[in-house]
Amino acid sequence: MSKRRALGQHFLRDAGIARAIVGLVAPTPSDLVVEIGPGEGALTGELARRAGRVIALEVDRGLVARLRTAFPAVEVVEADARTWDYRALVRPAGGRVLVVGNLPYSVGKPILMALVDARTAIDEMALMLQREVAERVAAAPGGKVYGSLSVLTQIYCDVRVALHVPPGAFRPPPKVESAVLHLRPLQAPRVALADERRVHAVVRAAFGQRRKMLANALAAGLGLPLEVVRRKTTTAGVDPGRRAETLTILEFAAVARQLS
Ligand code: SAM
Repeated sequence: MSKRRALGQHFLRDAGIARAIVGLVAPTPSDLVVEIGPGEGALTGELARRAGRVIALEVDRGLVARLRTAFPAVEVVEADARTWDYRALVRPAGGRVLVVGNLPYSVGKPILMALVDARTAIDEMALMLQREVAERVAAAPGGKVYGSLSVLTQIYCDVRVALHVPPGAFRPPPKVESAVLHLRPLQAPRVALADERRVHAVVRAAFGQRRKMLANALAAGLGLPLEVVRRKTTTAGVDPGRRAETLTILEFAAVARQLS
């Protein structure tokens, strides 16, 4: 039981929801799909039926063996989806690379970040996460749930919450609600980023102390003198007294450019 919990093994029992998740990316015989955390195969069968090639990444050795028997056409790989090399994926001729998964809640965020990092190798994704996390990823500026996860995903991807899934759709049912994100990596970042690492550092520092005024949070998080941060933030066209949650991606990029 504890292993199941540690690996977030809540298996989908609703074939209609499985079809709806797969339908978001609509695989065709030309496409390659990477499935993350296939578990007992709730999505795997539908993916194998529709896609030309399916690679399934599962960390639980016992499940890997069962999946190989149940889905001989699927390439089941015993691997940790947080560290697997998505960048090495090669687009099939005339097809797309799709990523689909009902992600384990405990490692949903690092898996999402690894996928965003490898975005140039990926065309589209449908990912189930804890509802709260999914809503944070897709949030617009101005609300309490808008944070670094929203900005650092939306700089690189179009993202929306496509489906809500209740606990009763899984066995065993989780204690939290779930939601499915539909993500499309952009050809280029949404805004021109002079220094990508600086933008990430600025976003993290700004939300590190999100209740503080922007300049105070940035000065503390980046180890810079407050006066310098106030001046440069103003030069970027952003009031240093605002809070991080009110800044658009464009404004974060402008502030980072001044602070680099
Ligand atoms: N896709 C199945 C379904 O919808 O019924 C199972 C989803 S279950 C929420 C998550 C699955 O991810 C489990 O099978 C678990 O063993 C696997 N898993 C957990 N951590 C993982 C990791 N780091 N890398 C790959 N798979 C992982």
